[in-house]
Amino acid sequence: SSAPAPIPATLFPGDGIGPEIAEAVKQVFQAAEVPIEWEEHYVGDQIDPRTQSFLTWESLESVRRNKVGLKGPMATPIGKGHRSLNLTLRKELNLYANVRPCYSLPGYKTRYDNVNLITIRENTEGEYSGLEHQVVRGVVESLKIIPRQASLRVAEYAFHYAKTHGRERVSAIHKANIMQKTDGLFLKCCREVAEKYPEITYEEVVIDNCCMMLVKNPALFDVLVMPNLYGDIISDLCAGLVGGLGLTPSCNIGEGGIALAEAVHGSAPDIAGKNLANPTALLLSAVTMLRHLELYDKAERIQNAILTTIAEGKYRTADLGGSSSTTDFTKAICGHL
Ligand code: NAD
Repeated sequence: SSAPAPIPATLFPGDGIGPEIAEAVKQVFQAAEVPIEWEEHYVGDQIDPRTQSFLTWESLESVRRNKVGLKGPMATPIGKGHRSLNLTLRKELNLYANVRPCYSLPGYKTRYDNVNLITIRENTEGEYSGLEHQVVRGVVESLKIIPRQASLRVAEYAFHYAKTHGRERVSAIHKANIMQKTDGLFLKCCREVAEKYPEITYEEVVIDNCCMMLVKNPALFDVLVMPNLYGDIISDLCAGLVGGLGLTPSCNIGEGGIALAEAVHGSAPDIAGKNLANPTALLLSAVTMLRHLELYDKAERIQNAILTTIAEGKYRTADLGGSSSTTDFTKAICGHL
């Protein structure tokens, strides 16, 4: 019988360490015989007038067509007349939810070894709508926009995620005691969706209390859903709980089922081109992409190979206290496949 046709997926290697860690993903996918055919798109060195950005229209079309992709870090060139690369992607592809799994890596010791939670951040509205102005001299105003439709959409995604990933609880994070209208509406939307998922426990936690609970006992949480700013802060707090930037993956969910996975970290210009970067965050992001495609066996195998390599401790990159190069660490992972 013939093998199934490979699944096309967009790959943005990105800037700085991006191409090095993207190469690691390609090698690991090859070793694990993942049926993905990458469509590689580099960020251009000229502004495409159709996107007003260094990202070309063809790159965006590739993600729209394939509906899945993996993105390395992108450093937006400084200068006027163009949009930030990440903002362009978020707006053009309507990437409304940012999903960050956060779990303790066995073998890499941090303060806690039982962290296993998912933060789901509303990614397009809230405090980051970019609507700021001066009211009178000495007084400025920033608008926090909470549309019912955007709140329902991210809540729906959170409960759907919980149900399809065997999770038991969704916590909505808010400050509705003070911001009664905006966070109040966000909670109302979460409650409406919660009613459709009686098998999932639903709770509401005030943001300040949530921070304290996360630092004291992160095992109290399962899936957390929240507006934009809270998500930005809480997800970094959670990354800190399990060992930092070299390890933490994420996935952006967009309209029409688009999934664009990316590492949380940036282009790390200080170590770019030196074969020192830790590819784990991008590899684990690629694993979330495989789960999105329901390629669960491949996802499990690759994740296990990564975790085993880190746990053994023989090959670790410098950020984890080791002395391995990106390529040696990658070879060790391939060896465990
Ligand atoms: P950074 O994440 O690039 O680097 C912070 C520190 O963490 C550096 O010391 C770096 O060496 C280290 N680091 C990051 N990733 C690592 C990895 N995989 N392995 C080992 N060490 C790693 O943050 P920054 O320096 O603030 O930003 C640099 C550039 O990246 C900026 O141009 C910024 O705009 C861009 N950026 C892009 C994204 C994105 O594309 N999503 C996110 C953040 C920053």
